[in-house]
Amino acid sequence: MSHTVYIGIGSNIGDREKYLQQALVQLNKHEEVSVTNISSIYETDPVGYTNQAAFLNMAAELKTELPPLELLNVLQKIEHHLNRKREIHWGPRTIDLDILLYNDENIESEKLKIPHPHMYERAFVLIPLYEVNSNLILKTVNQPIGEIITELPDKEGVRLWKKNNGVGEFGLLES
Ligand code: ADP
Ligand code: MG
Repeated sequence: MSHTVYIGIGSNIGDREKYLQQALVQLNKHEEVSVTNISSIYETDPVGYTNQAAFLNMAAELKTELPPLELLNVLQKIEHHLNRKREIHWGPRTIDLDILLYNDENIESEKLKIPHPHMYERAFVLIPLYEVNSNLILKTVNQPIGEIITELPDKEGVRLWKKNNGVGEFGLLES
């Protein structure tokens, strides 16, 4: 049976859009993973360390046969692969792939926490996720995603950067 998963993707080094695209292409190439929906790309002011470049963020829906830890492993391999291509200095990563939701499961292990612990307070996670599936109800807080976004204070820092108009998903899934 296939599992429904939502991931968050971010990049703030180099050709950020290319890294987002490469991550999606590599995920979709995996035999046991299909990318079934993607959001627009948003540009986000860095939170915390403000002396780093702005991020591009997006979200995607996946269908997969892989159990959670194996999926994490696949995501980390892709991160590693894309990081190695651009070994600049220590610092912000070329790509960050986070599992946000895996079906309705709650996982609390050292390696993997699902739902992703900080997703509820991060507009740069929730705004793209809402675009991918506006019907999501986040079980841990028992609230529809749209309602959580309405109550978020820091939405101005998240700007639409490239709209997904649905036509070929703006080429992001083509290698
Ligand atoms: P962050 O995403 O918080 O900036 P990293 O991408 O460096 O940090 O990830 C650090 C660790 O977070 C990973 O080694 C992974 O084991 C762990 N982790 C825990 N929960 C998740 C999750 N839901 N998705 C991705 N990584 C997770
Ligand atoms: Mg991460």
